[in-house]
Amino acid sequence: MFGLVLAAASGPSVAQEAEASQANPLRCELCKQIIKKHYYKIPGLSEFYCETCHQAAPKCLFCGRPMSGAQAPEKVCARCRAKAVTSPEEARQLYHQVRDWLEGDLNLAWSWTISLRLTSDLPEAVGIEGKSGFRELGAFLREGETGTIVLLEALPRDLLIETLAHELAHAWQAENCPPKSTLLWKEGFAQWVAAKALDGFNCEEALAILEHRQDLYGKGYRMIRELESKHGREGVFSAVREGR
Ligand SMILES: [Zn+2]
Ligand SMILES: [Zn+2]
Ligand SMILES: [Zn+2]
Repeated sequence: MFGLVLAAASGPSVAQEAEASQANPLRCELCKQIIKKHYYKIPGLSEFYCETCHQAAPKCLFCGRPMSGAQAPEKVCARCRAKAVTSPEEARQLYHQVRDWLEGDLNLAWSWTISLRLTSDLPEAVGIEGKSGFRELGAFLREGETGTIVLLEALPRDLLIETLAHELAHAWQAENCPPKSTLLWKEGFAQWVAAKALDGFNCEEALAILEHRQDLYGKGYRMIRELESKHGREGVFSAVREGR
C-alpha cells in the first residue's frame, strides 16, 4: 500500500515593500491600522497585512491568513469556518459532482473502485507523521486495484473541491502512469487537475492561491500549465502517461 499526500494549501506569506503613498495609504486587513513601512501579502490574495500581524498573529491552517486571538483556538479563520462542509452526506455529493465534472471536462476515467473516507485526523488515518504548521488535507491510498481517498472532515467547500480533484488525479495516475515519474510531475499534474475543477466550480480565490503557491505544488502546477500552453491538453496527457 502506498499513499500520496497533499500538504496544506497555505503558501508562506511573502514580504514586499509597501509603496509610500501618502494619498492612498494601505490598511492592515486584521488590525485596520495604517501600514507605515512594510506590508505582507499572501500570494494570490489581495489583502495587505502589517508587520506586527504578520509576525505575531496565528495563521489559518487552510488559507494562511493571520487571525485574531479569538479565532486562534480553532486554528481556522472565520472565513474558512463559514465555508466548511460539515455534513458527510454533502461531502459525498460533492465527491460525485467533482468526479462527474472531471470525467466530462478532462475525459478522466477510473476503472477501479474508489471509496471516500472522512477523518478528523488525517496523519493518523493514513499512518504518516503530521508536520507542524501544515495541515494534511487528503491522501490517496491504493491496495491492489482498490483505491481510497481519505479526506480531512469539515474542509471549506473550495478546498474540498480542490482536494477531491487532486486525489482523484492521483487515483488516475495510479492506474494510467508508470510509477517512475517525479514528485514535481505527480503533484504538478494533480494541481493542474485541481485547478481545472476550481475553475469549473467558480472558486476564484482558491484558484488564485493555488496558482501562486511558492512550493513544489506551485512549481509543478506552473510547469504543467506551461506545457499545456505550448502543446495543449493532449501534450499534458501524453507526457504524464509516459511518466515524465
Ligand atoms: Zn498530491
Ligand atoms: Zn495589522
Ligand atoms: Zn482561513
